[in-house]
Amino acid sequence: MEPSDRVLTTYDVLRKHGVDRRAFLRFCTQSAAALGLSAAFVPKVVEAMETKPRLPVLWLHGLECTCCSESFIRSSHPIAQDIVMNLISLDYDDTLQAAAGFQVEEIRRKVMKDYKGQYILAVEGNAPTNDGGVYCTVGGQTFLSILEETAADAKAIVAWGSCASNGCVQAAKPNPTGAKPVRKLITDKPIINVPGCPPIAEVMTGVLAYILTFDKLPELDAQGRPKMFYGQRLHDKCYRRAFFDAGQFVEAWDDEGARKGWCLYKMGCRGPTTYNSCSTFKWNCGQGWPVNSGHPCIGCAEDNFWDNGPFYQRLSNVLVPGIEATPDQIGKTLTVLSGVGLAAHLTSVAVRKQMKKDEPEEPGQPGAGEGGRV
Ligand code: SF4
Ligand code: SF4
Repeated sequence: MEPSDRVLTTYDVLRKHGVDRRAFLRFCTQSAAALGLSAAFVPKVVEAMETKPRLPVLWLHGLECTCCSESFIRSSHPIAQDIVMNLISLDYDDTLQAAAGFQVEEIRRKVMKDYKGQYILAVEGNAPTNDGGVYCTVGGQTFLSILEETAADAKAIVAWGSCASNGCVQAAKPNPTGAKPVRKLITDKPIINVPGCPPIAEVMTGVLAYILTFDKLPELDAQGRPKMFYGQRLHDKCYRRAFFDAGQFVEAWDDEGARKGWCLYKMGCRGPTTYNSCSTFKWNCGQGWPVNSGHPCIGCAEDNFWDNGPFYQRLSNVLVPGIEATPDQIGKTLTVLSGVGLAAHLTSVAVRKQMKKDEPEEPGQPGAGEGGRV
């Protein structure tokens, strides 16, 4: 990226790339909708994209698998692929950039100097801290020291994905490398956690669009996540929720309930305790999400999800965060931290099941056995 390009606005660069005005306005409208803004805010998004210089962004990679970058560059919007190079001025990304070596590290230091206090530091992955951080080095320097050095003059930090936000599998017990998420290493900068393994592309671009549009950070929840994208449980918008409320559960892979698309709670679905946008934005151009494909959510957007008990076991032994206020009894019982409420729900289901057994059998009634309607 040439220095002169950095003062271009998003719209300038989109025009240079052949994006017409109609597509640009459509993009602004969809961005506003993704941010949870009403139509009245669309002009503000348009104005920001037309007039504000793009965000200088330095993007670091620590211990990680690069799935966040993979997700980001696959954002489903027709011109979203341009976001990477247009909405932001991505001056340094040691995975995406073509250049390599000491020259590139000099570019990082130059941007830090030229845009002191103005650039956004995006971090993918976390830093091992044991043995001086030797388990992740870039250009002979530990990632830990690169992170601390680059964070020093950043305006804010965006921690992409579960690795950077909460440690993910690298920090799971016994954590042999002493891997730590960004927030445990940098404590004097605003940090936006955008967890998920990976995070949803539209959520990632939405976070940057918000910062560019409003020149401030979005409102965050207790885990430092933008409330606009992590304000609801998957369970609240899940299309299988009606089956949960009705007590119709998949009990074994490929059983009758699985074939009928019933609720995956008993197969370990963590949707009731996971705050993310998967059941609204979905994945792969909005085509689907794990629950759509018959797989339970494993709660990747929650803190310490690898240590929150074995996957594929029902939620009663997983910490349930927050206090639910929905009126239906199932939702209320799920919020009881001990899981007692959930046990009560299941007990009532069991009672109903027993009552059902006591009724005369209706031959051929679907779901009469295990995995059937309870
Ligand atoms: S438990 Fe999972 S599958 Fe069932 S309704 Fe909730 S999110 Fe959907
Ligand atoms: S469905 Fe659950 S595990 Fe899958 S990406 Fe969404 S939050 Fe993560």
